[in-house]
Amino acid sequence: MHKHPSALGVATALKPAAPVTLIRPQAAARAARFFAEKFPGRSLYAVKANPSPALLLTLWDNGITHYDVASIAEVRLVAETLPEAKLCFMHPVKAEEAIAEAYYVHGVRTFSLDTMEELDKIVRATDAAQDLELCVRLRVSSDHAQLSLASKFGIDLSDARELLMATRQAADALGICFHVGSQAMSPHAYTQAIERVRAAIVDAAVTVDIIDVGGGFPSVYPGMEPPALEHYFDAIHRAFESLPVSYSSELWCEPGRALSAEYSSLIVRVERRRGDELYINDGAYGALFDAAHIGWRFPVKLLRDGHDNDGEDLIPFSFYGPTCDDMDHMAGPFLLPADVQTGDYIEVGMLGAYGCAMRTGFNGFTAETLVVVDDAPMASLYDDAREAAPLRANVVKIGK
Ligand SMILES: *Cc1c(COP(=O)(O)O)cnc(C)c1O
Repeated sequence: MHKHPSALGVATALKPAAPVTLIRPQAAARAARFFAEKFPGRSLYAVKANPSPALLLTLWDNGITHYDVASIAEVRLVAETLPEAKLCFMHPVKAEEAIAEAYYVHGVRTFSLDTMEELDKIVRATDAAQDLELCVRLRVSSDHAQLSLASKFGIDLSDARELLMATRQAADALGICFHVGSQAMSPHAYTQAIERVRAAIVDAAVTVDIIDVGGGFPSVYPGMEPPALEHYFDAIHRAFESLPVSYSSELWCEPGRALSAEYSSLIVRVERRRGDELYINDGAYGALFDAAHIGWRFPVKLLRDGHDNDGEDLIPFSFYGPTCDDMDHMAGPFLLPADVQTGDYIEVGMLGAYGCAMRTGFNGFTAETLVVVDDAPMASLYDDAREAAPLRANVVKIGK
């Protein structure tokens, strides 16, 4: 992999004709250390957010020892990359073959479920193993999240009693897990969900060994100003401490976005300008799926030699991606200097989570070049020097 001091350096030195993925290992390392040191329990990295082996190694080196995997391919990938990692298979609907391979070949003992059928499947596939950690996924509200995860998985509180009791019988350790939705903008998301967990425990009268509050921890994007992560951790810790669970019970979380968003960004080139629309060389089928399909706004910055993005008037642009598909459109608004033109390079930030992982090669547009850079990510939840850094109009800064 190439190395460069900065995004601007990459654009000016390489003048790349295809998009370039920028990698910031130090940003992922800082996020990992933050969770490993400050979350009042164990942090599992949700691999689907970004399965890059280099990222997995960085997280491991900085204290993340447990990994939330959702497919047999993710199980194999993490087992191969990090042979000592503990894997937790947290997709509530799994192929029976995948459960058996995970258990017998890769030593996986932790599985999630939200139905009796899945419990039967796990028991069958593991020959009624006696060393299972089984987490029942409870449906909770996605009201505080930007992306709902409330409809597909999770058993309703009113139906949970029988499943919790049956799972208790089959499990060595019983857990309850949930997911409040991605990019949860308030700690209340977790305290409300934990109240539902309390009701489930009281109703089923079972001993619970693991409370897994899932993912949903936010990152920083234009127009999205989450409170500091410490507030989430405090609220979760207090709610967990008040639950009627065994003295030795464990608290887990499964961040995907919060651990990986700052790890990557992308350099794109403007291939055409039509008024306030820029035709760039990456889009809906590349790393910008969320920008196109759910209107996610990523921070952007013009990379032009001698050009300083601070303190100038920015105007709103929308983007078209490179494919011949009308859907390859990103409404933004993306704030850039008024004189952006064909040939300019733009950095699109915060694509380490659900960006680079979702790239396809549709229509022949790919991005094969990866470059490691030393400069800071465009925004950060973990920036100790926030005060010292200049404020940019299109980058939300988080105060402690
Ligand atoms: C996607 C997912 C996560 C990670 O969610 P983020 O919002 O990225 O933190 C965690 N757990 C499960 C079960 C998931 O499906």
